[in-house]
Amino acid sequence: EASQDNYFWVKRVHPEDVSKVIENRNRIFLETQDQYWEDEYRFLKANGEYAHVYDRGYIIRNAEGKAVRMIGASQDISAMKRSEQQLQELNTTLEQRAAELAASNTELERFAYVASHDLQEPLRMVSSFLQLLEKQYNEKLDDKAREYIQFAVGGAERMKKLILDLLTYSRTGTEKEVFLPVDMQSVLENTLQIFAPRIEKEAITLWVKPLPRVYGNQMQLQQLMQNLIGNAIKYRKDQPLEITVDCMEEADRYVFAVRDNGIGISQRYFEKIFIVFQRLHPNNQYTGTGIGLAICKKIVERHYGQIWVTSTEGVGSTFYFSLPKTPPEKKA
Ligand code: ADP
Repeated sequence: EASQDNYFWVKRVHPEDVSKVIENRNRIFLETQDQYWEDEYRFLKANGEYAHVYDRGYIIRNAEGKAVRMIGASQDISAMKRSEQQLQELNTTLEQRAAELAASNTELERFAYVASHDLQEPLRMVSSFLQLLEKQYNEKLDDKAREYIQFAVGGAERMKKLILDLLTYSRTGTEKEVFLPVDMQSVLENTLQIFAPRIEKEAITLWVKPLPRVYGNQMQLQQLMQNLIGNAIKYRKDQPLEITVDCMEEADRYVFAVRDNGIGISQRYFEKIFIVFQRLHPNNQYTGTGIGLAICKKIVERHYGQIWVTSTEGVGSTFYFSLPKTPPEKKA
């Protein structure tokens, strides 16, 4: 009678699951003294469809330890299985998208690199022939012509700066990761040394707190600090400039702050300024290429940190960036 039951039960287990289920059952029944059996398999329902079931049973054994009966309960887990599978499919799609995005980013970076690299050569030609024209035909040129040449030379120079900045930007993404201990205090001191002539000439007041050691790429962190302090100096008002460099310690990160009392930024540009080529001023007012903060963002993000700004127009700006306290795990 029991084997009849067993026979009908086995017939309804999905053909692909049956051997695994029987093997598992036999092992527990015959080779162990366990009192508990459980398994997951597909089981044929009355409507002809297979359900995913989770089956549990309490094994009753006789005095010799032989399994004689089992009292069990079976639970239909088809819905759970389905959502599990959907989740898995979703995950796969997501992973695919991420990979595609990474690939297109890399392609874009490669394009920026190649374009900026290849543009340098023709630009050098333009500049040098303009200069030759000015030198060798100087007597034949009138003031107007000389002025036009000056404009053209100025344009070429500006383009050269753009190309070099773009190269720096795209290189920031392609260089190999090297994370080593970096003393932010000496990074700051190096930066201040670079700007020392202007700091002295423009009587800029500096407030500097001691800065901690972090993990990262020294050159990139130097560039980051240089761009932020360079901007603080550049976007000043006609009033005495004060720059404060500060650092706050949080649970698992440091938050650095570079504060100025310069012209400030309207809140609607807080995000925009971190995008390549986004500038808020015509070039004759404040010169620049609009790449500096995009480079900063890239550097900080490569260090697993964040960068953001708070500012009030006409009052000043504070640029914040965070860096993790522990060395970032190297990506494969
Ligand atoms: P660039 O200085 O070459 O224009 P950035 O990417 O460094 O490029 O900056 C983008 C824009 O953000 C600048 O054009 C300027 O309008 C604004 N900005 C950056 N730093 C400051 C600052 N400290 N104070 C006011 N505005 C700033």
